[in-house]
Amino acid sequence: MIVTIDGTSASGKSTTAKEVARKLGFVYIDTGAMYRAVALYCIENRIDIHNRKAVADVSHKIDIRFEFGNDKNHIFLNNKKVTNLIRTEEVGSVASTIATYKYVRRNLVEKQREMGRKENVICEGRDIGTVVFKDADVKIYMDADLIERAQRRQRELERTADLQSVIESLKKRDEQDKMRVESPLKIPEDAVIIDTTHLSIEDEVEKVIEVIRQYEYDKKDERR
Ligand code: C5P
Repeated sequence: MIVTIDGTSASGKSTTAKEVARKLGFVYIDTGAMYRAVALYCIENRIDIHNRKAVADVSHKIDIRFEFGNDKNHIFLNNKKVTNLIRTEEVGSVASTIATYKYVRRNLVEKQREMGRKENVICEGRDIGTVVFKDADVKIYMDADLIERAQRRQRELERTADLQSVIESLKKRDEQDKMRVESPLKIPEDAVIIDTTHLSIEDEVEKVIEVIRQYEYDKKDERR
């Protein structure tokens, strides 16, 4: 079974997807972390992020691997653990820029489809239900008010950034993600939309599991 979650930055996708995966024993694929890993590599190796060819080469040659622990999912970039290093606003912003490049997307989508070939998968990002796994069994789209999302991101950053700058950064990122030519962020046609503005993480997890259960029930019903 393939479940996709798309949506705006800091709408609750990652936290929810991770917990649903844990509860249902699914493999979790965080595609944003993959764009962030490419961004981090470029920053650390002084690759000009406006040089599309150079960045595309990076996305082709680097090795990205996830390891699923009990408490945390770790991401390895060429065998170096970068789980925390990719979580800065700088890396997020560079990720959003290089994610507009056609060949970077092509290379990462290929890696994502490869990972999705295995077992039951919950995959989260911006183009998962529309491009990566168009035929997914269950598609979810998450969104929340900008201010609420900014407050959540600020808490994640342990209040090292002021609210106004987080708002501006999220706004810019949403715009870039929705307006780009290559695989822009949009609501997949057959997605269930969840507005998480007033929901707790537990509520979000419960809602997603409900949607999955309903799908399984309908499928069984079809067979009867
Ligand atoms: O989800 P996260 O904030 O970690 O993603 C970082 C950036 O990577 C996003 O702002 C977006 O530009 C890009 N991204 C993407 N397609 C995906 C996942 C992330 O373009 N499937």
